[in-house]
Amino acid sequence: MKITEEHIQELIKEIAGPDVIPLVLFLKGKKNISEFKLAEKLKLGVNQVRNMLYRINEYNLVHYTRKKDKSKGWYIYYWTFDENEAKTLIKDLRRKKLEKLKNKIHTETGGTFFVCPEGCLRMDYADAMEHDFVCKECGTKLVQLDNQKYIYSLNQQIKELEEELNTPEPEIKVKRTVKKVTKIKQKIKKAKKIIKPIAKKKKRIIRKISKNIRSKKRK
Ligand SMILES: [Zn+2]
Repeated sequence: MKITEEHIQELIKEIAGPDVIPLVLFLKGKKNISEFKLAEKLKLGVNQVRNMLYRINEYNLVHYTRKKDKSKGWYIYYWTFDENEAKTLIKDLRRKKLEKLKNKIHTETGGTFFVCPEGCLRMDYADAMEHDFVCKECGTKLVQLDNQKYIYSLNQQIKELEEELNTPEPEIKVKRTVKKVTKIKQKIKKAKKIIKPIAKKKKRIIRKISKNIRSKKRK
């Protein structure tokens, strides 16, 4: 499954609330950010920031290291967002959703349902029979539900989820390779800068030495 930034935002909204999204977006791609820096960047109190971090820490989405502030004597916590854990969680939640949808479709296709035309309730055949096919809320006669459209929409959702889950995620590998190549190129550039002057120096020294040898030979 290919996981986008939207997926991560959706996940954070679902498990911790929309207020935690900016915090995650700030942490993402960085390492060991102090809670004081987070509070400053997000214009929030440190306690508010801690509360948000604890909410996502319950799902192991953040890790921390701590260092003692020698002058003040207390610990400062430095946080890192675990993107891989987020990806795993996104996939797990989708698999669970898929399972639920499949169960639903099983129920829908396997039974006959009745609804109150006034919109009060929905019952399966046994329940409806027990109530003489009359709504127990308003007394209106129940009608048989045509759930074909609902089944169709469930099927569509299942199809989409399955497609999403089965799509491989090649992009990150490509990105990593590109990153590696640029890093190597930068290293070569640096090395060339260092090597060039050395080579020049070498040439100069060799020239000097051969000059010396020649002059000594003449003597
Ligand atoms: Zn009713």
